[in-house]
Amino acid sequence: MILALLLALQGPLSARADTVKTTHDAIRYDILIAVSDTGAHFVGEVETLWVLGSDAPVVVPLDSAMRVVRVLIDGKDNTRVHRTAYGRQDNIVYIPHDKQAGDTLTTRIRYHGVARDGLVVRIDSSGNRTFFADNWPDRAHLWLPVQDHPSDKAEVNFRVEVPLDLQVIANGTLIKVDTLARNRVAWQFRLDTRIPPSNFVFGAARMAVSPLTPTSCSAPCVPQAAWSYPQDSAYAAQAFSVAPAIVEYLSGIIGPFPYPSLAHVQTSTRFGGMENATAIFYAAQLYPAKQVGEEIIAHETAHQWFGDAVTEADWHHLWLSEGFATYLAALWLGHVHGDSAFQAKMQHHADAVFGKKGKDGVFVNNPVTETPIVDTVATDLMGLLNTNNYPKGAWVLHELRGLVGDSAFFKGLQLYYTRYRNGTALSADFERVMEETSGQQLGWFFTQALMLPGYPMLTVRWRPVGHTVELEVVQVQPPTWGLRQIPKLEIDVGGTLVTVDASGATTKLTVPVSKEPTSVIVDPQHKRLLQAKVERAP
Ligand SMILES: [Zn+2]
Repeated sequence: MILALLLALQGPLSARADTVKTTHDAIRYDILIAVSDTGAHFVGEVETLWVLGSDAPVVVPLDSAMRVVRVLIDGKDNTRVHRTAYGRQDNIVYIPHDKQAGDTLTTRIRYHGVARDGLVVRIDSSGNRTFFADNWPDRAHLWLPVQDHPSDKAEVNFRVEVPLDLQVIANGTLIKVDTLARNRVAWQFRLDTRIPPSNFVFGAARMAVSPLTPTSCSAPCVPQAAWSYPQDSAYAAQAFSVAPAIVEYLSGIIGPFPYPSLAHVQTSTRFGGMENATAIFYAAQLYPAKQVGEEIIAHETAHQWFGDAVTEADWHHLWLSEGFATYLAALWLGHVHGDSAFQAKMQHHADAVFGKKGKDGVFVNNPVTETPIVDTVATDLMGLLNTNNYPKGAWVLHELRGLVGDSAFFKGLQLYYTRYRNGTALSADFERVMEETSGQQLGWFFTQALMLPGYPMLTVRWRPVGHTVELEVVQVQPPTWGLRQIPKLEIDVGGTLVTVDASGATTKLTVPVSKEPTSVIVDPQHKRLLQAKVERAP
């Protein structure tokens, strides 16, 4: 997703630690939601197909604002044996059974209520009621009884019953719209591939739909559409006209688009954009302000591959989503606007990691930089939406690309996608794939990039001595950031490019030159995330 705007609204409901360890595997959810004609109340019924991991009860969390009215187990009413513990935050529905590991079980939970969060009900500027799910990171269980953890991906089918004048969007393909009594209709969607619970969404509102017709798209094209409030439909059609080209570009460098279609939807998400599989939700207020730019579209679209199709199995590896989407959006900008646009964007990301530059030119460090990207002790999930997982994560990929070369890097991206598509992965899985395609041992690189805080800070002193230049490269970053391995560091010495292994605390070398250089430039092609201060020694 892209951060916006409304993060100040975050509450403790979304701040659970990463303590969910799933025992059973939810394979498919069939979700029925019937929204009220007049208010925020809804009735839900969620049927789940489980593959059991043991004979332990199935345990499903559901926010205490929801009232469970019935639980069926394999189609039978078992009101007497299941029990719901009504907690202050979560209801826990315990569902005992007499099956074993490997068996399948179907549970069906009927409930109702007004969601405190997760399903956001509002009145739009035209006075119409809108319903939009907004689940990241673990707010799905505030309105859906689901195993709310990214490691348990599942197929999802939605049936959403609404008043006749509302349009409905949900994950997957629209199967049919049934007419019901009392001016109501039921919209049915199906998605046969597994996605994480943070992605289980529907939206219901008065919306206009603009198909985004590809102009020069090579087959197979992905049908895309812009869904917006009617008054913003002209802007939406124009803003998202770039979407087919983005999907085509990303398909070319990563592999086939993971899903049958893609909708770009104006919604009440608290984020600037949220990458729900097949239905990206964008913040409504971006539209009248005309602030839906191509970078946010490219970022959220890139998440369809990384985040949705390949999902980090653990919150702490969020960079596998956000770093990838951030980097792929920068690549898109470079593809369309040239290498200088890409370089400018990566510099912008580097500056975000470094923090603010003070009056004296010294960076005031960003406190997030004091923690590693994979910060296994972090318990505030919203806090993970930080400069480590976004811009620094993007720089991990860019440095890796510089290290292994374009061919191995992009082959690695493609193989990682192919191997983990519709599944989950951790950083070590990505590392293994990159070692495979590059033929290099990369453990040192990933450990340094993901497990150490900070980045290298160098002082480079140079002194002309006869027909040579003496260079001294000193690592001066805080000791808590650790000494870095910096192989193949490029330094431009008056037009002569030298490559040095600057892995030690101090590295010295002598460079032959034909005439005295006027300048020395560290990492002239900006392949590294580092700060370097260059001094001419007296
Ligand atoms: Zn993102």
